[in-house]
Parts: sequence; C-alpha cells; structure tokens
Amino acid sequence: MLRFGPSGNSAIFYAEGYKSSLKMPAWLKAKKLNAYEYSLTRGVRLGRETAEKLGAEARANEISLSVHAPYFINLASPNPENITKSEKYIADSVEAAAFMGAQRVVFHTGSPGKAERKEAFDRAYRNLYAVVEKHREKYPEILLCPETMGKKNQIGNLDEILKLCMLDECLMPTIDFGHLHAAGGGALNSKDDFRRIFERILEALGEERGRKLHMHYSRIEYTEKGGEKKHWTYADKQYGPEFEPLALCLAEYKITGTVITETAGTMAEDAVILMGIYNAIMDDL
Ligand SMILES: [Zn+2]
Repeated sequence: MLRFGPSGNSAIFYAEGYKSSLKMPAWLKAKKLNAYEYSLTRGVRLGRETAEKLGAEARANEISLSVHAPYFINLASPNPENITKSEKYIADSVEAAAFMGAQRVVFHTGSPGKAERKEAFDRAYRNLYAVVEKHREKYPEILLCPETMGKKNQIGNLDEILKLCMLDECLMPTIDFGHLHAAGGGALNSKDDFRRIFERILEALGEERGRKLHMHYSRIEYTEKGGEKKHWTYADKQYGPEFEPLALCLAEYKITGTVITETAGTMAEDAVILMGIYNAIMDDL
C-alpha cells in the first residue's frame, strides 16, 4: 500500500479557519489522505504533550506520521561544535517522533562548504555512524531517513544517500524526486529516468527493503549551475518532474511506503491529485 499526504499545512487549511496542526489528521482523513509529515525544519519547538496529542489524532484518523528534522543539521561540518548541535537536532527530532508515534525522521545530511566533496562526505558518514550507534539502542523502531538533495552543493545525490543507508538497517532514504530532477539539471523526464532510480535503490538496499520507501514530490524550478531554486504547485506545469511516469514506476516496481507532497502552499490538494493519478493506474492493472 502506498500512502499520500502533505508536508506541513496547506494555505486553505488556515483559510478555512483552522489554526492548530492538531486538527490536521481529521482534515486529511476527510480528503481521503493517509500520511502527514510534521515539519520541525525551523527547530524542535514542539512539547511532549502536543506531540502526544497529535499522535493520538493521527492514530484515530489512520494517518501515518513522519517528521522533518531542522534544516540546521550539518554532519559534514569540520567543526566539532556543529556536529554536537547536529546530533542534538536529530536526537530531539527522534524524541518528538517517538512522542507522536512517527516512524520516520527525515533529515538533510549537510553540505561540504569549502571542503572537498569526498572528504566532507566521509566526515558525514562517520558522524552518522556515531548517531546510529546511539539511536538504534534507544529507538530501534524509528527510521532515520537522509534525503536526496536538490542543490548541487549539498551532500545527498542518490549514490551518497544510498551509501549512507547501507550503514545500518535503521537508515532508509528519503527519495525526493523534485530534488533529483533539479540537481540533475532536469534529469527526470521519461519513465526510464525514474526506472533507473528504482533499479539503483533495489540494487543497493535489496528487493524487500528497497520497496518500502519514503518519498517527496514537488514541481521544482532549478538553475543549471546550482540546482534547486524553488518549489512550485502541481498546477505550475511548466516545471517538472511529471508525476505520471513516476506513478507508473511506483506501480511497476510495487513500491509501498509514503509519497509526501512538498509543493508550495497547496500540498494537501496536490497530494489528492497524485493519489488520484496513482489509483487510476492501479485500477487499470
Ligand atoms: Zn527536506
């Protein structure tokens, strides 16, 4: 089964008069969606009580939860202080996830800054290993999910993310198709382009593990030089990648897991559109 839902709250959620994310699970269920990514990207400021309430709401409405850890994480930093802070951001996000019963914590690995990319990646790899060693004892049920990134100067191309995920079973990739498209200068156009991604994932993680994926989708603007520039809505059709060829591959490879939409402001409405496209393909099989 493939779940669909938004990252964060759509503009219409607030326009309809809602204020609290605690209302999101029921709101999503009414739209027949079944996943929600809670954003901690600007810091873990969610108290235990609120997290537990959100978890209860999500369970009551059959919404699976994931959290997105703060943007400030940089496991590739040469500065030990930044590593300590990054470890704390991850640990705090995991704790929030545990309180709400979320199974996945999405995070950005970091960026090389002025360092050589390979050297920075090796540093991130070692630092992530240290995080994992502590994590798997305390929260073996929560997966840490490094994300494929859209800017060229960030660590997180597909090979890097898969290499990180081969460190331990508690790591699973967040495959962000908009990001892969942007970082590759518009790389995802045909079904074969998406096929190559799934083939790589299955090769690296195996037939079983490689099919339970956490995925992000949005239309995205990019520049040749830097990659990702801006997320757009599903209606902004001048920007790729298209969802149809991806949906065909999701069906063909029997991918389960979650598709989270990260479009600009219309993420829940766009998740409904994606779910419709995917369900129509599945109905035709
Ligand atoms: Zn992200």
